[in-house]
Amino acid sequence: MGWTNYHTHCHFCDGEAEPEAYVQSALRQGLLALGFSSHAPLPFPTHWTMDPGRLDDYLSTIRALQKKYADKLPIFLGLEIDYIPGVISPGDARFQALGLDYIIGSVHFFGSALDGLYPTIDGTEEEFLKGINGIFKGNIRLAVESYYQNVRSMVQMSTPDIIGHLDIIKKNNKQSKYFSEDETWYRQTVSDTLTTIAESNAIVEVNTGGIARKRTDSTYPSPWILERIRELNIPITLSSDVHSPELITGLFRETATLLLDIGFTHLYVLTPTGWQPRPFSPEGVEYFI
Ligand SMILES: [Zn+2]
Ligand SMILES: [Zn+2]
Repeated sequence: MGWTNYHTHCHFCDGEAEPEAYVQSALRQGLLALGFSSHAPLPFPTHWTMDPGRLDDYLSTIRALQKKYADKLPIFLGLEIDYIPGVISPGDARFQALGLDYIIGSVHFFGSALDGLYPTIDGTEEEFLKGINGIFKGNIRLAVESYYQNVRSMVQMSTPDIIGHLDIIKKNNKQSKYFSEDETWYRQTVSDTLTTIAESNAIVEVNTGGIARKRTDSTYPSPWILERIRELNIPITLSSDVHSPELITGLFRETATLLLDIGFTHLYVLTPTGWQPRPFSPEGVEYFI
């Protein structure tokens, strides 16, 4: 029994270390599987996504690690791919052609450009507000509903294996600064999104990255959303969205306890034969059955 993690950022995007440092840390911590998911290149420059010219090097570096550590640790090659309507999607042929082991689909951007730039949802509060004010004329509800509409479109049009940090829209909303998750309209848009997800075969990740880095007060998604996910029998996986090697299993024990309390019995793990449900405890998952 031990942990797995499929949401890992290394030097090829905004992670702190070279890929092999994560492999070595995973081995020290007794991980049973590790997946790399660098931010896929975008058609415009950012400080956190992979440079388009480095994609081939990324693919060959991870594949080489896979071979080098074949008898010690199953390693998987993935990408975290953005969804911006009409700009980039996890279903794009150029990504499908890469032979990836899996894809995390994430919405990091408000879906419209502002003066030629796409403001991020999960960047600085200043940039978040620039998006809200510039694109949605200050209407936070419209901005949040548009975010979830983009998640639904992504799931319907190009279902990724994993839906990344489902409610990342709350990242700049600590202490309910801009909206309350208790409001009827918020509950409704989340509920609509979960219905769409339940009709797909996507896995929702329970992501500890925000809470481990103290950027949020709870996991992505929030515990009340996890309760709905349980009721709808939507499959989940546990991931750390890690950017530094030591934190690969950040808050996994505490989060597993929460998930067991909610009533989850299985976490999905990626094995050489695909995504499989496995029983888990606060100590980890039963990866090898
Ligand atoms: Zn992300
Ligand atoms: Zn990520």
